[in-house]
Amino acid sequence: MGTGNLVSLAVIGTIAFDSIKTPFGEERNIIGGSALHFASSASFFTDVGIVAPIGEDFDAKELDFLKERNVDLSGIKVLDGKTFRWAGKYGYDLNLAITLSTELNVLEDFEPHLPETYKYANFIFLANIDPDLQAKVIDQVKNRDAYVALDTMNFWIENKREALLDVIRRVDMIVVNEAELREISMEYNLIKGAKKLISMGPKTIVIKRGEYGVFMVNPDEVFLCPAYPLEEVFDPTGAGDTFAGGLMGYLSNVGTVSYDALKQAVILGCVMASFNVEDFGPKRMKSLTHREIKERYSSFRKCIEFGDLKL
Ligand code: AMP
Repeated sequence: MGTGNLVSLAVIGTIAFDSIKTPFGEERNIIGGSALHFASSASFFTDVGIVAPIGEDFDAKELDFLKERNVDLSGIKVLDGKTFRWAGKYGYDLNLAITLSTELNVLEDFEPHLPETYKYANFIFLANIDPDLQAKVIDQVKNRDAYVALDTMNFWIENKREALLDVIRRVDMIVVNEAELREISMEYNLIKGAKKLISMGPKTIVIKRGEYGVFMVNPDEVFLCPAYPLEEVFDPTGAGDTFAGGLMGYLSNVGTVSYDALKQAVILGCVMASFNVEDFGPKRMKSLTHREIKERYSSFRKCIEFGDLKL
């Protein structure tokens, strides 16, 4: 399935069947998962390779849209058994996903193997998955200068706290939502919580705040932006991974993690997430074009630009 070329950005995460209920509709067994949402976004900006397991019940054709965008699928392993499944619902607070069920299935015995062509990637994204698997991926990376970012969720914070804290010590960036940051750091205040994580090793903490936007905390700077103002949101599932895909995809594209690049990457992440929530699953990402991305980036910029005070 792979192209044989070195990939610039490697992601490990889940490929899933999701069943989702929002106040605006319901869909069952649609494709999702942290790695899938991430790659569908990052692939607009860079060459990305996925490491994830799928079960025998997963039709590989579902991934054709990623192949068309040159995503390297050679790290996807078909295992005996069923694909990972997640069911969740949202009330009118679309920032709050309520997990109804998590069936690990093939994830339970999955041993991640980075294909040789992924081991020299300059950027690695440890999407939401078992922290033990995230650690095993870091162990295989051969590029000592690789920039590594990590996401997680309450399921892992509560079930694998020590393993998660161990991986956090080994990464450059953490991308989490407010509730996750509070749960990991045990601090209510977001800036205090972020600084606590920075003291453990990562240089940058990116806090996703759903419709309220993003905080990025670095040792000496804090950057904030709102979410792109949309009139209609259908399904927030995958928004976080799509955001991270835009962010990491852009960094990989420009090849630097300067503060200016990080700020632009955060904005582009918000732009990508704003598309993803317009429809269920990755549907909107399939029809998305570079032109639409650029137009929304410009219109977002107008919303948050302001001049010097004339006092
Ligand atoms: P988010 O971007 O945070 O909305 O992530 C949504 C995706 O996370 C869904 O497509 C789910 O399949 C996936 N997911 C849900 N629970 C887990 C879990 N415990 N581990 C890894 N991925 C998960």
